[in-house]
Amino acid sequence: MKKNSKNFIDRSHANKSNVKPSIEDAQKAVKTLIAWAGDDPNREGLLETPKRVVNAYLDFFYGYNEDHRKVLGKTFDDVQGYDDIVLIKNIRMESHCEHHMVPFIGIAHVAYIPDRNVVGISKIARLVDIFAKRLQTQETLTMQIANAIDEVLKPRGVAVLIDAKHQCMTTRGIHKQDASTVTMSILGEFKNDPILEDRFLNMIKIKSQEC
Ligand SMILES: [Zn+2]
Repeated sequence: MKKNSKNFIDRSHANKSNVKPSIEDAQKAVKTLIAWAGDDPNREGLLETPKRVVNAYLDFFYGYNEDHRKVLGKTFDDVQGYDDIVLIKNIRMESHCEHHMVPFIGIAHVAYIPDRNVVGISKIARLVDIFAKRLQTQETLTMQIANAIDEVLKPRGVAVLIDAKHQCMTTRGIHKQDASTVTMSILGEFKNDPILEDRFLNMIKIKSQEC
């Protein structure tokens, strides 16, 4: 996985055809879906809806236009010898499942053990968004975040855990409102050392500071 991490990240979300539909095409597609659902896209309340939906899509899927290498590119090497786990936890995560295009929402916990470089902690939260704001499976999302940190920071280890509820499961289909899905991706020392993996899982459980 480590050797192929870059390919893995790029391959799974490339627009292979390279032809981007126009904004008018996108709005027309929304109109079609409204009509297909059984409503009149030309009634007053729905007239502006295609425009609003397309604007919302710009927000839901802005991750396609972002480059994780740029976000993680600025690192700090003066950490006074700090060589233990850096954990950013409870990062709110909003994504859309690629099977139904409905939201799955939850929290991400991201940890790494720096080798020489550390990155600003807000950059880790941005990294989660870059991959979450795409059409995703939770499994792929989890691995992409871990692989991106591994690729750019070259840390001694990475651990990512995501706990999310999928609206395709809570509001349709089998309607299991309380079911949440937990996925985890560990690389490097976290993978090789079960004690480190346990420490990561225990650190997630510690109550966060209120401020
Ligand atoms: Zn789904």
